[in-house]
Amino acid sequence: MDNADLLHFIKNNHDSLLLVLDLIPKPIFIKDLDGLYLSCNTSFEEFCGFSREQMIGKTVHDLWLPEQADIFHARDNELLNSPGVQQYETDFTNPNGDEFVFQYHKVTFNDAAGETAGLLGIIFDITETKTLEHTLSELSRLDHLTQILNRRAGFVRMDVVLDDSIRKNKHFSVAMIDIDHFKMYNDNYGHAFGDLVLKTVSRALDNLLRSNDIFFRYGGEEFVICMPETSLEEALTAAERMRTAINATKIETPTGDHIYATLSIGVSCFPEHGSKIKHLISASDKAMYDAKNDGRNSVKFAE
Ligand code: GH3
Ligand code: MG
Ligand code: MG
Repeated sequence: MDNADLLHFIKNNHDSLLLVLDLIPKPIFIKDLDGLYLSCNTSFEEFCGFSREQMIGKTVHDLWLPEQADIFHARDNELLNSPGVQQYETDFTNPNGDEFVFQYHKVTFNDAAGETAGLLGIIFDITETKTLEHTLSELSRLDHLTQILNRRAGFVRMDVVLDDSIRKNKHFSVAMIDIDHFKMYNDNYGHAFGDLVLKTVSRALDNLLRSNDIFFRYGGEEFVICMPETSLEEALTAAERMRTAINATKIETPTGDHIYATLSIGVSCFPEHGSKIKHLISASDKAMYDAKNDGRNSVKFAE
């Protein structure tokens, strides 16, 4: 059938049309150019809690709260002013406080003269997909053992800090942190204890951070902290505070005794030690190895 006949078709074949629309398990509505409901399926009746009879011939302002009706009306007008297809997602909270995300697909149709005569819309509840998307995106950002950012997410965030610092002409510092003689914990008490040390150290470090610091697991027993708007001197003070705090954190071993982990930390600063993240990381890494060579349990800055 030609699109130009649709308004006529809907009005003259309404009962037959409903036989089909009511089979579709997604809310469907049809409105004319003035925003009056021409039809809807049973799924739409269930979706909004009004019967078809209550809706047909009414506008959104007759049925919904003014602030909701205004939004529906504005979206419909956007489409009718620019006929074709429209797709968007909206958040929705029902009177019980349940939150949903709905995806609307709408399309205009014409009358016999070929003029836009109304629109047909179908609604998909994508709440579960959105929740899953959010969970997956969170999981892809986090290190599964320590639940802090993983290396990839850490680098993404550091790139933002670098761009910001260049634009605002500010410095920032990068600390590379390595747990000393970590292998010994695995060898002496087992891998699970090694994991516990990683979790305990990362949680203790996390507690010492400022809200805009970026903290992530760089590799096995290595962590990076990127400190925006922090000079080398301030970063060295912060690193020293971290080293001391971890060295004072008692960790029970499976055999009933306890250990105090120590850290070797290397610190570099933008722009003094490099203008790219990889250069700053490598400068901090070198400084961290200086700390190792100097007997461990210490903080060194990049040359
Ligand atoms: P150094 O003081 O020179 O840093 O010595 P180290 O023993 O800390 O360093 P080394 O690189 O020799 O050993 C690191 C060990 O960390 C080796 C690896 O098996 C272990 N490791 C890496 N990732 C994990 C993890 O997720 N869990 C546990 N338990 N161990 C890990
Ligand atoms: Mg290491
Ligand atoms: Mg180590």
